[in-house]
Amino acid sequence: MPRPFLFGTNFKMNQTPAESARFYEELTRSVEPPPGVGLFVIPPFTSLAAVMDRRPPGGGGPWVGAQNMHWESEGAYTGEISAPMLLALGVDLVLLGHAERRGHGQETDETLNKKLLAAAAARLRVLFCVGETAAEKGYGVGPETVARQLKIGLHGLDEEFLPRLQIAYEPVWSIGAGGTPAAPGDVAPIAAHLRATLAARFGPAGSDVPILYGGSVTPANAAGFVRLPDVDGLFVGRAAWTVDGYRDVLAAALVARVASRR
Ligand code: PEP
Repeated sequence: MPRPFLFGTNFKMNQTPAESARFYEELTRSVEPPPGVGLFVIPPFTSLAAVMDRRPPGGGGPWVGAQNMHWESEGAYTGEISAPMLLALGVDLVLLGHAERRGHGQETDETLNKKLLAAAAARLRVLFCVGETAAEKGYGVGPETVARQLKIGLHGLDEEFLPRLQIAYEPVWSIGAGGTPAAPGDVAPIAAHLRATLAARFGPAGSDVPILYGGSVTPANAAGFVRLPDVDGLFVGRAAWTVDGYRDVLAAALVARVASRR
């Protein structure tokens, strides 16, 4: 079976509940993804309940994700959110390992492994981010870095979890306002290495895990990434923070994707 094409955005620390709910409602009303295409939106925690309220009856509409969670399900962890709390809201997925959390939040491969194990136990979908820094790229250890992040993050997980796992390759040097857009030639070998690492770890089922690309994606450069054989979608920040922007990047990606898979 062909891997799905996934597309979504992370609002980071932006938007009020009312703004996120308006975005989700307009997106749901105006975009009908073709078969095999899955959409998602990852608002801040404070917007999750308002966005879930706009979910079409029956649970349709883009998946709604949380930006992080703790590995414990409850306890003395002020400021943290747990898997049962996210499940109680009905969210579909949790983002783990975003570079800004690995950096400012000081998340390590080991703590991310605990979070992945907790998310798997809760049967939450996970979008797990990996990516090398500019320094690691400079030393030529990008492939080793992402493989290490993947192997430690997924340690102790078995094949049963794989249908709920998606990976986002996000080079740290390419994301956010100070990022340098990557070229498809930067992304292709890393995506292939991630695919091979998943297959080595889990066997053929590992090859079916969707791998998304993220980092300074725009309507102008989206095509180059989605034509790559190991890229199964896009994870977009700034360019998809308006509904028009979201639709423009998605449209550019889908046109190129369909043409490249003919
Ligand atoms: C991100 O930070 O995950 C990201 C993809 O951001 P941007 O598209 O704005 O580079």
